[in-house]
Amino acid sequence: VIFLQSLPKAELHAHLNGSIPIKTILELAQKYSPSSPQTTEVADIIEKLKSGVILNDIFDFFSLIYTLTSTPDAVVTTTRAVLQLFLNPPCTYLELRTTPRATTHMTRERYLAVVLDEAEMYPATQAALIVSIDRRMSDSDLEECISLAIKMKDRGRRVVGIDVCGDPRSGDMQSFTQHLSRAKGAGLGLTVHIVESTNNTTKDSLALLSCRPDRLGHATFLSDELKTFTESEEAKPCIEICLSSNLLCKTVASLDAHHIRYYLKNDHPIAICTYDALPFRTSCLGEYSLLLAQPPLGLGLSRDDVARIARMGMDAAFLRPRD
Ligand code: 5GP
Repeated sequence: VIFLQSLPKAELHAHLNGSIPIKTILELAQKYSPSSPQTTEVADIIEKLKSGVILNDIFDFFSLIYTLTSTPDAVVTTTRAVLQLFLNPPCTYLELRTTPRATTHMTRERYLAVVLDEAEMYPATQAALIVSIDRRMSDSDLEECISLAIKMKDRGRRVVGIDVCGDPRSGDMQSFTQHLSRAKGAGLGLTVHIVESTNNTTKDSLALLSCRPDRLGHATFLSDELKTFTESEEAKPCIEICLSSNLLCKTVASLDAHHIRYYLKNDHPIAICTYDALPFRTSCLGEYSLLLAQPPLGLGLSRDDVARIARMGMDAAFLRPRD
């Protein structure tokens, strides 16, 4: 543990609403209005989280979490708790990502400003924000979110990139490309969830790759055709690896069969990421421990390999932290 703690580590793939500590969820639930029709569902999800049940459909899980985080106050509470979770220590640098969400209590711009106010309590070498866009978003939603990200960046606020996330069964990625190119053109980094499940189509993946993302989330089911595309790039996109999430969502059968082995063998840049600490009950140190632990519990890598992987993560940050 001391070795892992001492390594400079970047957390590059953590979803804000997927990383809320259970203690904070309970606090928010206590403040939640009992007259709401969703109270039973909220109680249900808390029971499931407490008993360690991993939900079958992660996207249903998020719609429930959103009922608890729909006010500016709740967003302050959650962002503060998540930043503390990652930065006090174990991570050296965090690129937290979140989807600007308009609710009856706030606009998307307010949501983003509230999250940024919290992130900016930390030095720029420690915390930055990636604006997520959801695959279900309409053209006007996309336009608004990308414009907001560019506006915040141009005003010197801590927005460093754009992420494409959300249910892989939804959306037509062809219609996203013009928005993603605009974000890249404005100097924002680009990361996209890609072939995380067998629901992603090659057409969609090729559309996303045509925007030349700097990093790829998961890339679990990269076909030979897609591999040719990513490996021919001069600057190969870094693969954000989320070991616990892949095991718990059963997108990989075992750590031994995990695609991390392919990327390590091919000297392809990777970053070890936590993803959704709440449902997957993991942490930055927990993910690194899986690298060191002996099989079948871990990958059994050497300390030198683990240190090299940690460096690759730091190098893949959109805002290169100075260490
Ligand atoms: P938020 O962006 O609201 O802070 O974090 C939750 C959102 O992150 C979800 O609504 C979803 O769009 C995205 N997300 C979290 N986990 C996953 C995942 O496993 N796959 C994908 N594609 N998106 C996810």
